[in-house]
Amino acid sequence: MNKSSALVVPRAVLAAVERAAEAAYPEEACGLLAGRRDGSGGLVVTGFRGSANVATTDRRETFEVDPAARFALMRELEGTGAEIVGHYHSHPDHPPEPSAQDLEHAYEPELVWLITTVAEGKAGSTRAFAVAADGSCFIALEIALGP
Ligand SMILES: [Zn+2]
Repeated sequence: MNKSSALVVPRAVLAAVERAAEAAYPEEACGLLAGRRDGSGGLVVTGFRGSANVATTDRRETFEVDPAARFALMRELEGTGAEIVGHYHSHPDHPPEPSAQDLEHAYEPELVWLITTVAEGKAGSTRAFAVAADGSCFIALEIALGP
């Protein structure tokens, strides 16, 4: 994806991500995004699945999506035309910018990242990012709110 590509996120998904971010505070929340690619570089998110944060280090500063949540979502999406298109996590008391550690963990360049900041338990803004093709950095994406 490049910067001009559209990323459509339904309001209900964004709201659910924010609620998950608040519920997990002061730890990082995480989960997966399901959606469809529109063939011209755009991406439409159609759903999400929350995951336990199974990171074994400090979960206030790191996240790891439970592989079981991923397999369950893959099974759920089989035959629907939708696929896993990204994931979300929260940054408790940190801005919604990818951290150096996030970049180290960006193994899958085709996935989009949503990052929600949470300050004192209250969700703030959510930003979207794609990983550059060479994996060297994140590229900010515009979020278009869907119905
Ligand atoms: Zn992060």
